[in-house]
Amino acid sequence: MTSKNLSAGIDVGSTTAKATLVQGKQCIATALIPTGHDMAQAAEKVLTQALEKTTFTRKDLVYTVGTGYGRHGVSFADEAVSEIACHAKGAFASIPETRVVVDIGGQDSKLIWLSDTGSVVDFAMNDKCAAGTGRFLDLVSETLGVRLEELGGISLKSQDPCIITSTCAIFAESEVVGLRSRGTAREDIIAGIHQSLALRITSMGSRRGFKKEIVFSGGVAKNIGMQRALEQRIGYGILLPDEPQLLGSLGAALIASDRSR
Ligand code: ADP
Repeated sequence: MTSKNLSAGIDVGSTTAKATLVQGKQCIATALIPTGHDMAQAAEKVLTQALEKTTFTRKDLVYTVGTGYGRHGVSFADEAVSEIACHAKGAFASIPETRVVVDIGGQDSKLIWLSDTGSVVDFAMNDKCAAGTGRFLDLVSETLGVRLEELGGISLKSQDPCIITSTCAIFAESEVVGLRSRGTAREDIIAGIHQSLALRITSMGSRRGFKKEIVFSGGVAKNIGMQRALEQRIGYGILLPDEPQLLGSLGAALIASDRSR
């Protein structure tokens, strides 16, 4: 371990690549970029961007952990660690009361159950069906011409959320077009989409159930409408860390820091 004690976590997801740099347990810089078509290049670029926010260079890095869908493309990492372990680590470090992590990313969604000491006791994952992931919201945002950042706020205005009956993202997209052409209000469509996604996510948890505290991670956690829809289904409040989309890279960086000792 050097006196700088600098470690990095690189989370290369299907949609975004994230980097977190820590000194010991202290986060000192982060970066987030679109992954694009070249995961290895995205990993290089996001690390460079994070380092540029500090006075450090790559030579100062003691240990680097790669995670996410593209973790095996992080050629400069000392180790690849599963997203499950990294999200659990990041969530528990941010909110020690975390017992369940709900992670909704661009092309998958997961539930992770933690013990009182933060170790992973179980998980459930959907990486097969787009209707249970952020991709579903991306499609809806494109179809309705509403920016992703606006989906949540608009949906909260709904008094009468639509019931979306299609179980496939592609059919649901056609359903959205149909609803819109019949004059259904955007807020009711978006609220209905959030409820449909929340139903899918909470169904994954039916085997083990939910318990407090539940922490929401991944890019979709930035959508307040999605948070409210999940809370409505679960029956109580869920918590948001400061940077939900960076939780996996934070966990990776903290695991890297542990390894460097
Ligand atoms: P991955 O790790 O799989 O690449 P992320 O955790 O980065 O995925 O999440 C990406 C998803 O987050 C996008 O598909 C999008 O639906 C959602 N998202 C990203 N930013 C926002 C935002 N500002 N508001 C609402 N949703 C967002």
